[in-house]
Amino acid sequence: MPINTTLAPITSEDELSWQETALCAQTGPDFFFPAPGSSTQDAKRLCGACEGRVACLEYALRHDEKFGVWGGLSEKERERLRRSRG
Ligand code: SF4
Repeated sequence: MPINTTLAPITSEDELSWQETALCAQTGPDFFFPAPGSSTQDAKRLCGACEGRVACLEYALRHDEKFGVWGGLSEKERERLRRSRG
């Protein structure tokens, strides 16, 4: 019997479940989408305490989110991570 290596599809409900505990929902978008040149440290600090951080980061990478802090990483940091993964 062949081994089933097919992964279950990610439903949009599963894919977004991390948003239920998202700490950024309490601060508003400006905090996570700072003006160019502004510090991202406060947003990253909040991400560090967010229980959905890994799922949030994976979502941003999968959807090629270009702007803002997601999962504790800035645009440039996500781009570097994306390139390092190949
Ligand atoms: S990791 Fe950061 S950006 Fe992602 S949901 Fe949590 S607080 Fe928001």
